Amino acid sequence: MPFWKRRSQDEYISLGLSRAATAEEEAIVREAEEARLREIERAQAEDEPGFVDRFKAAVASTRENLAERIESVVAGKREIDADILDQLEEALIGADVGVQTALAIIEKARQQVRRDQLADVHGLKQFIKSELKDILIAAERNRKRGTVASETEVALGIKPYVIMIVGVNGVGKTTTIGKLAHRIKSEGNEVLVCAADTFRAAANDQLAIWAERSGVPLIQQKPGTDPSAVLFDSIGSARARNTDVLIVDTAGRLHTKTNLMQELEKMRRVAGREVEGAPHEVLLIIDAVTGQNGLEQARQFTRAVPVTGLVLTKLDGTAKGGIVIAIARELGIPIRYVGIGEKMADLVEFSPEAYIEGLFD
Ligand code: GDP
Ligand code: MG
Repeated sequence: MPFWKRRSQDEYISLGLSRAATAEEEAIVREAEEARLREIERAQAEDEPGFVDRFKAAVASTRENLAERIESVVAGKREIDADILDQLEEALIGADVGVQTALAIIEKARQQVRRDQLADVHGLKQFIKSELKDILIAAERNRKRGTVASETEVALGIKPYVIMIVGVNGVGKTTTIGKLAHRIKSEGNEVLVCAADTFRAAANDQLAIWAERSGVPLIQQKPGTDPSAVLFDSIGSARARNTDVLIVDTAGRLHTKTNLMQELEKMRRVAGREVEGAPHEVLLIIDAVTGQNGLEQARQFTRAVPVTGLVLTKLDGTAKGGIVIAIARELGIPIRYVGIGEKMADLVEFSPEAYIEGLFD
């Protein structure tokens, strides 16, 4: 799948002519380009089943907690009554969708029932499904256009593209950096990793292993160094090496300690001073298993740094997964990726449609 694909010079087909191309020559170029796009589409289609299966396996636990609970409430019933609505509200709360979100969805359903817009439990189920999807899609629209890259494009001229990875200890920051570095590098980009979690000595070793595995260089300094200084050095190195993407690991000691937030704020300032618009992306890593605590973490981090996207890790575990809905609705942060395992390839791009369909099929 193409990722961060900047068109390199040699991807442009040169006619080698100083005069304007004739219609015939243009047709040849267009045909070549179309053949190339068809080839990409074919390769993607081949990838598809594997991806869908893996994603489905990863959301099995969430499905049990959400879709199957909803199913068991409505099983064998046709008419919608107050009791069913109450039970659905409970099911949503139980799946980590969040109290506020659950109340809002069910209240909307009640209104529709009153207005005879929902005929039976089947319609009600569809309604809940589409409400959940709409919440995720609404958050998706908050994606900052222009500066935040998508899977297939990044604004030209942004170099290095700086991604800061934030989140509390143990959520999977370092692992996600390894996976991301691998993913971006395998699309032909030069990647550099900055080890700015200087708080824990072991953090550097772990990051070094991941960097080595994905074959990307790592900039680190001895534990205790000011993270902003490591970041400053890394930006210098990135420039010298003509790096496309710089990924910055950060410390994650308890988010209740205000000095971590000050540290992140300082790093943000340093990045912005050195590279225009940096950090171009701040990814907040949330462990899906932590449930509602994840929402609180997201609140804290968004106060300190401009979080542009979320990565939900450990969805393959005992996650209830509904937390993404709560975060999307309350904070409007788009979900960019989900971690579905500990291996290098276990990071998938998030799609609201695929997620909801995967839960409710
Ligand atoms: P950090 O403290 O935020 O840097 O977290 P780490 O990257 O060190 O990860 C903590 C633990 O979570 C490690 O044991 C990882 O292997 C594990 N982990 C990270 N992401 C995933 C995931 O998507 N699925 C599973 N099952 N484990 C993960
Ligand atoms: Mg780490």
